[in-house]
Amino acid sequence: MLNTVKKLLAAEGIRLVAPISLADCTIQKPYLLNRAGITHGTAILFAVPYYTTHCDDSARNISAYAVSADYHGFFAALFDRLLPVLRAAFPQHRFAGFTDHSPIAEAEAAVRAGLGFFGCNHLFLTKEHSSFVFLGEIVTDAILPAPPHAITTCPGCNACRDACPVALEVSRCLSALTQKKGTLTEAEEDALIAHGIAWGCDRCQEKCPITLAAKKAGTLYSTIPYFNDTAISHLTAAGVAAMSDEDFAARAYSWRGRETILRNLRLLERKEKSE
Ligand code: SF4
Ligand code: SF4
Repeated sequence: MLNTVKKLLAAEGIRLVAPISLADCTIQKPYLLNRAGITHGTAILFAVPYYTTHCDDSARNISAYAVSADYHGFFAALFDRLLPVLRAAFPQHRFAGFTDHSPIAEAEAAVRAGLGFFGCNHLFLTKEHSSFVFLGEIVTDAILPAPPHAITTCPGCNACRDACPVALEVSRCLSALTQKKGTLTEAEEDALIAHGIAWGCDRCQEKCPITLAAKKAGTLYSTIPYFNDTAISHLTAAGVAAMSDEDFAARAYSWRGRETILRNLRLLERKEKSE
């Protein structure tokens, strides 16, 4: 079964796949397992690379994860394709697919499955794609061999901490600041302008030597059409204002409402005009 899942995922551009027993996972939302009719079995974890060459655009003004359409759309379509194939191939077993809204603690399960490790920036990292991955899992009631790995961490070089401007500017992560709704204080506006990014922040990830090595090796880049074909690396206020409701809803920055990203873009554009 694992080989079948691996082959199906490889055909989708996903190569980091590993199983972990549900007994070795932290179950956070048991009702999701109950709903799937699964009480025990295996979670087959996989890491989906999303960083595309569009993210190298020097004019990019949003976080890499927000460049392409929202990953939830990718996973929904992926599970729609894969789960019927698995159910047909293994009719004696149950299957369910999850990402983000998951019954298990995903990052911990991915480390325990041996897919990667925890970084000092509190992110899940893989050697191949660094932290630029979305985690997903296919949960099944089949018991697969899955010896758990020890929890491991990165080498702790501190490049991520050195790259983080937060201590110098504001008391909260700039990524959170760009997602704050409503009016920003003057200090927050100054921090956002100095940051120069309208949504999110990747500095700690970009400076990580694991990212730099993956970029050099070429493994950082996603070949998945969903992420490549939907990329918009540079936003303008006019462009976001003109997006249809449907197009806007498909973007990661839509969850805080159109006014939040527009406020940030207008702030950055006002600054550009005044220079
Ligand atoms: S995302 Fe940016 S502000 Fe937040 S911890 Fe990383 S470098 Fe610091
Ligand atoms: S920059 Fe260094 S300390 Fe930070 S996550 Fe990467 S390897 Fe770990």
